[in-house]
Amino acid sequence: MSDAGPARVSPGAELRHFITDIIDADVASGKWGPVGDSSVVRTRFPPEPNGYLHIGHAKSICLNFGLAERYGGVCVLRFDDTNPVKEEEEFVRSIIEDVRWLGFAWPGARDDDLKAGVRFASDYFQQMHDWAVELIRKGKAYVDEQTSEQIRAARGDLTTPGTPSPFRDRPVEESLRLFEEMVQGRHPDGSMVLRARIDMASPNMNLRDPVMYRIVNARHHRTGDAWHVYPMYDWAHGLEDSIEGITHSICTLEFENHRPLYDWFIDAINEGRGPGSAWGEKIHHPQQIEFARLNPSYIVTSKRKLRQLVEEGYVRGWDDPRMPTLSGLRRRGYTPESIRAFAAETGVTKFNGVHDIGWLERAVRDHLNKVAPRRMAVLNPLKVTITNWADGGEADRIEYVDVINNPEDPGAGTRKVAFGRTLYIERDDFMEDPPKKFFRLGPGREVRLRCGYWIRCDQVVKNEAGEVVELLCTYDPQTRGGESPPPDADGNVRKVKATLHWVAAAECIEAEIRLFDRLYLAERPGRESDNHLDDLNPESLRVMTGCKLEKALGERLGDEPAWSDGIRRFQFERLGYFCVDPDSTPGRLVFNRTVTLKDSWSKERARNP
Ligand code: ATP
Ligand code: MG
Repeated sequence: MSDAGPARVSPGAELRHFITDIIDADVASGKWGPVGDSSVVRTRFPPEPNGYLHIGHAKSICLNFGLAERYGGVCVLRFDDTNPVKEEEEFVRSIIEDVRWLGFAWPGARDDDLKAGVRFASDYFQQMHDWAVELIRKGKAYVDEQTSEQIRAARGDLTTPGTPSPFRDRPVEESLRLFEEMVQGRHPDGSMVLRARIDMASPNMNLRDPVMYRIVNARHHRTGDAWHVYPMYDWAHGLEDSIEGITHSICTLEFENHRPLYDWFIDAINEGRGPGSAWGEKIHHPQQIEFARLNPSYIVTSKRKLRQLVEEGYVRGWDDPRMPTLSGLRRRGYTPESIRAFAAETGVTKFNGVHDIGWLERAVRDHLNKVAPRRMAVLNPLKVTITNWADGGEADRIEYVDVINNPEDPGAGTRKVAFGRTLYIERDDFMEDPPKKFFRLGPGREVRLRCGYWIRCDQVVKNEAGEVVELLCTYDPQTRGGESPPPDADGNVRKVKATLHWVAAAECIEAEIRLFDRLYLAERPGRESDNHLDDLNPESLRVMTGCKLEKALGERLGDEPAWSDGIRRFQFERLGYFCVDPDSTPGRLVFNRTVTLKDSWSKERARNP
């Protein structure tokens, strides 16, 4: 029995990069707490619940939870649910499940209560509101009644300073009153906003009096009708981190020039605060650190594009096995371990680049090679009749041969597989007129059936259309188990050049098998035409029905690992790695191919670069 459980530490745990250098220095200097106390490392993963998580998010999850694991700190799961109209409960559930599936836990996480310990930005709406009022009182925020077009037009550009709003210097009392009216729903959407009063001439556009609150008279999935204003991302994000005591607030590079604004907000709140101050104590000031986002080839990671694929029916759902979502990858058969390994392998840097998706495929191949039990399955069956089977005994007898469960794992043992007079082999493993380099079966040729017997093709049976429908073969009873026969009287040894997989007709099950190719044909989908849909691969899904599988796949054998997610995964000899799809019913199994055994794409590219 092999163990595929998730017990081992994240493969990234021992990796070093510029962020671990920063944290090491912080731990050594006692920046966030006493030297020697590593529990001062607090990170977070802050998804917006407006889509399913994808492989890019996995990078961020592995990094944030991985750092907490490494330093004995904690990582918070917090939903950035500040936009009431685009967010749905379904996304909250799927995101929690995906993070758990990857093998991570936040403080208070429980298996029997999905949302236990999870934080929501909406829980902080009151606190954020109070801080906004404080900034108005300090003369650092004002209600602006310009339209959004006017605000945009007055912002200026990189070479022209912005024009101050006519409302910028209105009395504090007026802004306070209007802001409370906005909060209470007394003004229509778009009629006014609350803006920070910073610097309309700042070379950093983010500092030109950014909007803090907008009016949205809409129900929120958690706070209901309590609020009629919702905080802008830039105002909310740093405050959420502050409230949770996040020490290292890790985000992607595009937020680098938002950092001065996050710092300004916290400093503005802290101005005048301290022991004995009427404003209160100073609030926590997290450190933001930016890294390059994961950008794998042949996929899209934009939520908008992924949503389009789902809503317009290019795929069957968010968890379609061709999707780069975590639920799609899971359904495809990817293991959490392989995704964690990929996230670690791609490193943590400050440079945006493209990551070869082949690395992800290699990661799952490497993992499954070690732990997936081997089975035999024939995708496109061709009937083989052993004409001399009766020479060894009864014509309809079944012999059970011992087949190795996993050559990589001696502990996985062997299983009994039926061999009989009628077998199926892969149609592709036979050619009537084989070219030079085709070593498999052809008229007059002999091959080894894996762990079974050697067979020779004597005759080809065709239907009226001239298609091959059956092969009449003879077997050599001296080759049981696939062993070489003894030398002949002159000492000559017979050799075969191919070993084929097979299934016995008397003991097999039928199944549907879904084969996937990349969803896009272009390395950067949409780059040429500006529309990712133009690069979709029309042949990304091939459904094979009537496939013949060895009987053991229909039942759960003792050698099957205890997969952490309960998904049954196998190597089908010579065909790749496969898993059972949730569309399966007791009488009708459906398998998905996770990945082929070899990387046929990079070979293809080497030939036709
Ligand atoms: P958007 O904000 O445009 O809806 P998003 O991909 O940023 O999309 P979020 O839900 O905000 O979605 O992402 C949650 C976290 O995941 C963020 O901290 C973000 O930095 C991180 N993240 C998202 N995409 C990637 C990526 N490709 N590589 C690394 N981290 C990512
Ligand atoms: Mg985002």
